[in-house]
Formats: sequence, C-alpha cells, structure tokens
Amino acid sequence: LPPLWKCPKCGAKFVTRNLLHACGKFSLKALFANSEPHVWRVFQRFVKEVRRIGPVSVIPQKSRVVFMTRIRFAGGTPRKTYFAGRFLLNRRIDSPRFTRVLQYGPRSFDYHLRMDSERVFDAELRGWLRKAYRIGRQERKT
Ligand SMILES: [Zn+2]
Repeated sequence: LPPLWKCPKCGAKFVTRNLLHACGKFSLKALFANSEPHVWRVFQRFVKEVRRIGPVSVIPQKSRVVFMTRIRFAGGTPRKTYFAGRFLLNRRIDSPRFTRVLQYGPRSFDYHLRMDSERVFDAELRGWLRKAYRIGRQERKT
C-alpha cells in the first residue's frame, strides 16, 4: 500500500493527498464540554480498547471524533449522558445493541451503538472493534 500523505500544517495523515479536513482546529476538550464527566471516561476507555489492538490516530472534528489508521474506521459523538459510538464492518450483523446501521456499499456497514458506561466493552464489542481496525488498515482479509 502507498504511504499516507501528511498534511504539512497539522500533521494529520490521509490516504488521499490534500484531503479536505478540519486541519487541527478542533479539540477533544471542546467536543466534550457539554457532556457529563462519565462520558469522557467512557470515551477514554474506547480509545484504550482500540489502542490495545494497535496504533490509532484520534482526531477531533467539529461534532465528532474519528479513529483512523489508514482510513476512518470508528469514532463517534459525545452526547450529554453517553458517547454515541460507531465503527465500520464489512458485513451485516444483527444485534439489538445497535441503535442504527448505515450501509454505504455491498461490504460497508456503519454500526452505531450507545456507550453509556465502560461495561459496554465486552468480548463481543472487542471482537467487532478488532475487525473494524483491520478495515481501517485496508487489509484485504477482514
Ligand atoms: Zn491539516
């Protein structure tokens, strides 16, 4: 795979050269300003769980945070009482845990789930995150 392009201004890395992005102007602190303290803790746990799989860039944007390796594969939006998490998978999964599933293509599904507390990070969710991480790395076999 070709090397990532690095934005000379903010250092963010992307697969596509000159990709339109927020250019480092948003902060995590600002994103979580209206959330209860436990929402930050849940998010920190989410970051920790993903870092356990491998290195990841955590990028704050205007209204969400994205996790990326080569491409965005997970992230979410802080709400007042929970973190609205999401991640990509290449196949359809039916689970009552998802609040929303968006399909972008025959092998691209965006799963949304509500992260109320650190208890959501169980073996099942860890398994999904490992698969999402491989999508982020654009590995063929996921
Ligand atoms: Zn930039």
